[in-house]
Amino acid sequence: MVDVSVVVPCFDEGEVVGDFHAAVVAALEPTGAVFEIAYVDDGSRDATVERLRELAGADGRVRYTSFSRNFGKEAAMLAGMRMARGDCVVLMDADLQHPPELLPRMLELRRHGYDQVVARRDRTGEGAVRKALSRAYYRLVRRFMEVEVVDGAGDFRLLSRRAVDAVLSLPESNRFSKGLFSWIGFDTVTFRYENAARAAGVSKWGGRRLLNYGIDGLLSFNSRPLRLAVHTGLWLFLSALAYAVWIVANALLDGVDTPGYATLITAIVGLSGVQLATLGVIGEYVGRIYHEAKRRPHYVVRETERDAPGRPAGPS
Ligand code: UDP
Ligand code: MG
Repeated sequence: MVDVSVVVPCFDEGEVVGDFHAAVVAALEPTGAVFEIAYVDDGSRDATVERLRELAGADGRVRYTSFSRNFGKEAAMLAGMRMARGDCVVLMDADLQHPPELLPRMLELRRHGYDQVVARRDRTGEGAVRKALSRAYYRLVRRFMEVEVVDGAGDFRLLSRRAVDAVLSLPESNRFSKGLFSWIGFDTVTFRYENAARAAGVSKWGGRRLLNYGIDGLLSFNSRPLRLAVHTGLWLFLSALAYAVWIVANALLDGVDTPGYATLITAIVGLSGVQLATLGVIGEYVGRIYHEAKRRPHYVVRETERDAPGRPAGPS
């Protein structure tokens, strides 16, 4: 019986994963909980896998899965949740930005009956631009999605067994876990902690990656952007109609004159822009349908702790 499974996606975290492991063990041992730590190496290019092999050889509570290439953090979290055998699961980043000291508190809140315990970081130490952008983004997301997504509530959270099973029962390939966690419901409690800087290495979330992640988040939850496109089209059509009536009336009253070159160009360019954007939105959804229709697995596994040297063979 395992009480807690800690799930840790790792991409190029060879430098920190050892410290991370020690910190988690130090935080969990005093609680008396039976725990396992499930690392998922997301196709790291550094020595992460070697570190994981060593950890698994030295500590029987360590399990790991290594992907054949980088499949992204969402896939890694999914793999970790599938591995987890615990009564509850804690998702954590490997870079020590999610302080392991908070683990006992999360377990305590779980004992109070919450199915999801979310540690929400504030944004101290982040650039002003990034702060403002993410704030604006979350405002947008809240308007567009029927699920509640909270700024700063990242992936540092505890899920009860039934919550994990609910997340695992969602079959989509395009996974936006922030939305999924919110979608499954259950009693959720949130507490804040102060943001910490990365222990070592660099963040893999550059501007472009964040933008794509943001678009995924917006589009993977509903079809409201399509609705918005329809609304925009309708409004444009109505204003064009009004304008046409005005032109005709003008021509009838004052006689025909045909300047209006500027108006034409503006209308053409404006409408083309709207059409392109709308086509883009439709294309995104079609692409998603295509992607889902292929039913590909979310990741490919290269090795697991069972392949690690110094580990007894047999069922783990
Ligand atoms: N990560 C991953 N796959 C990726 C990118 C990141 O598994 O393609 C992991 C990474 O190792 C870390 C966590 O996701 O444990 C958060 O990544 P990072 O610290 O780069 O993001 P940030 O903290 O800047 O949001
Ligand atoms: Mg980080």
